[in-house]
Amino acid sequence: MGRLALVTGGTTGIGAATCKALKAAGYDVAANYVVGEDQAKQFEAETGVRVFCWDVTQADACVKGVEAIAQSFGKPVEILVNNAGITRDSMMHRMPVENWDAVITTNLSSNFYMSRAVIQSMRDKGFGRIVNISSINALTGQLGQTNYSAAKAGIIGFSKALALENASKGITVNIVAPGYTDTDMVRAMPDEARKDLVSKIPVGRLGRPEDLARAVVFLVADEASFITGETLSVNGGQRMP
Ligand code: NDP
Repeated sequence: MGRLALVTGGTTGIGAATCKALKAAGYDVAANYVVGEDQAKQFEAETGVRVFCWDVTQADACVKGVEAIAQSFGKPVEILVNNAGITRDSMMHRMPVENWDAVITTNLSSNFYMSRAVIQSMRDKGFGRIVNISSINALTGQLGQTNYSAAKAGIIGFSKALALENASKGITVNIVAPGYTDTDMVRAMPDEARKDLVSKIPVGRLGRPEDLARAVVFLVADEASFITGETLSVNGGQRMP
């Protein structure tokens, strides 16, 4: 039996591609979701990836979710991919406080809640892999996304500190920073804005969810034990400042 991997927001977009790629690589895989019940059940039936419902903004629910997965598989989570995320865009001078709080809690605090829920069993076992999904916009900033850019940049600092705390325990913590990727999140943008984005990508296309999944599979391998606290950009060649 393979190691047990958990992907939050694992039934759509980048998360779904990551679950499939991990399963194909021989891992046991659990996917978390929050509202997309029909989508999740269909995903489970199609892929054999077991799905578990909870809200990653709730610290207690994260602990219970991780426990339920360990019980279902009869072993602890050894690989955590913090992928769940949302956008609530608007210029900062018009941003409601709720939109700031929702994005910081869902995209950043969830990484703390979920990592805290798995870290002790990883430390006890002397093995663990955590990959946190950030964004190109953490590195560049983006108009209308002070909340999102702050949360995604926060993930990078959080991950680097957590990597240091656990480096001697066989646990690596890394960051994948996707560029614009063809998922519901980007399909929700106006056509003109999307075309403009693509024109700035040297490879000449949006990322595919599978492009991101490949990076995660690389970082969680047993053999990737000397890579920690690192940010891997997967963005079609866009230069970082
Ligand atoms: P999707 O909207 O397809 O996926 C987001 C996932 O997050 C959904 O499965 C959703 O579950 C889940 N989710 C949201 N809120 C919660 C919550 N409170 N609790 C549990 N799950 C939750 O988007 P992507 O696949 O594009 O995004 C995946 C990650 O990649 C995100 O972190 C995003 O910020 C990041 N990213 C995406 C980029 C892109 O261009 N697409 C670029 C850079 C980064 P449900 O369906 O149940 O609501």
